[in-house]
Amino acid sequence: MPTALLNRSRLAHALCLILAFANLFSTSTAAQQRRRAVNAPSAAKPVRLVVGIVIDQFRYDYLTRFHDQFGEDGFKRLLNGGAVFTNANYIHVPTYTACGHATFMSGATPSMNGIIGNEWYDRDSGKRITSVTDGKVKLVGGRDGAAGMSPSRMLGSTIGDELKLATGGQAKVIGISLKDRSAILPSGKHPNGAYWYDMNTGNLVSSTYYFSDLPEWVKKFNKEMRPDRFFGKRWEKLLPESAYQRSTADDMPYEKFSAGNKFPYLINGGEEVPGPRFYTQFQYTPFANDYLVDFAKAAIEGEQLGVDDTTDLLTVSFSSNDLIGHNYGPYSQEVQDVTLRTDRTLAEFFNYLDRKIGLDRVLIALTADHGVAPVPAHAQQFGLGGIVEPKSVTEAVQNALNKSFGDEKWVLDFYNGNVYLDEAAIERRKLNVEEVERVASQAVERVEGVAECFTRSQILSGRLPQTRIARSVANGFHARRNGNLVVVPQPFFFIAEGITTTHGAPYTYDTHVPVIFYGAGIAPGTYYSDASPADIAPTLATLLKIETPSNCVGRILSEAIKAK
Ligand SMILES: [Zn+2]
Repeated sequence: MPTALLNRSRLAHALCLILAFANLFSTSTAAQQRRRAVNAPSAAKPVRLVVGIVIDQFRYDYLTRFHDQFGEDGFKRLLNGGAVFTNANYIHVPTYTACGHATFMSGATPSMNGIIGNEWYDRDSGKRITSVTDGKVKLVGGRDGAAGMSPSRMLGSTIGDELKLATGGQAKVIGISLKDRSAILPSGKHPNGAYWYDMNTGNLVSSTYYFSDLPEWVKKFNKEMRPDRFFGKRWEKLLPESAYQRSTADDMPYEKFSAGNKFPYLINGGEEVPGPRFYTQFQYTPFANDYLVDFAKAAIEGEQLGVDDTTDLLTVSFSSNDLIGHNYGPYSQEVQDVTLRTDRTLAEFFNYLDRKIGLDRVLIALTADHGVAPVPAHAQQFGLGGIVEPKSVTEAVQNALNKSFGDEKWVLDFYNGNVYLDEAAIERRKLNVEEVERVASQAVERVEGVAECFTRSQILSGRLPQTRIARSVANGFHARRNGNLVVVPQPFFFIAEGITTTHGAPYTYDTHVPVIFYGAGIAPGTYYSDASPADIAPTLATLLKIETPSNCVGRILSEAIKAK
């Protein structure tokens, strides 16, 4: 180092020390300090509203594959002005809707938050239950006396809960979606309300977990019967024909939907006037996303979200992308079109937020709850994949256990990738559970299309290989709720029947999703480091200066946080 420079740095060091001492001994009154805080020119304005957006079944590659066909104010606004994580993957299986939505605002994996699937076999009742089933509550705003839903099965807190705790309950928290679980799980234990779509009536409904009657603004919204405005409308391609050449042919034989398999789709449910079949079909169109944005605006106005410096939270989950994706697959023209239309829908929503609150006072976090596998018939053209019929797994277990231990109805259920064995029978026969699981597991691993099978004993004792798949299985395993075996298919295979395509695996097409932050306090940039949707909640907690949700396992995405 040249002497002159060295001297200058020594001088700077000495000056710093003098200044530090001066500060230490200066006396400043509380009033002076307050004035200084008010006058500080760079003090960031408080975040008035956090908008948590989930697009149901939205692979990261939708952002790159269709990028040139996006407008400027939708996805591109986030991609150009936000913090974009290009390599965010779920670290749990199964990659299902309820699990992804539970992770979103908790930063917890299913092993921690207990949401191990959309539905699972409940050993206590001997029945399958959903992630939001709650026998103690009733539906509000739908059919009288219909069963309600709640977040009671979710363990631990979310960003919404921590905001409530931090503000003496003043923060307002709302969750909305077409799907019950997607409205309920992100908004946490104690929101002002969670609302989802009732396909019998076309209304937004809730449950007695939250309140005994819908707020007036929701009643008013429902009274307008907005889905009816789309009755008899056609879903046509947004762009000219040539824009869709990157996707598969419009009418692939495996595509299926009640309105046919080819554009344009007439949306009337086959009914003369709007009824349950139309309201059901409506969800499978991009127009239902616009309807949800209309409801988001009604919520912002009805609940006065973002009007003051107490941070509020609105979670919005767009379900139609998933319903369309299951019917057509990720390489279809329909998925391309709903993606392009979602871009326009988001643009409209962001412009509204800017007008209403100002995007510099809004913090947006966007992700997806999972991706999706290519349709097996399509993947097979490229030498990839197939289907594992569920009964091939149960038969393999039954046969192996009958042979080794005697005839019994060993399998209580095979669901959600989990085999639940009859533990009463194992006890009655005085067998060693670990041994029974091992024999069953070996049989499952011989089934065509199965990659690996993990046993409960193996997972709980931590005797797992150090692989990405094993880690995902352990992160998805809750000791009281999972089965005796967890079955993982080979890449591009899935365990399901009667469906065009699905998700649930620990492979990139199911795990790789967008994680994007935009707005107040965010350092724009494209970040290639490993990330996960479980990192969203701790990052938000840090930005909002509140406690991290209780069961969080994610890391703070410090790259995304603007330096002070
Ligand atoms: Zn989903």
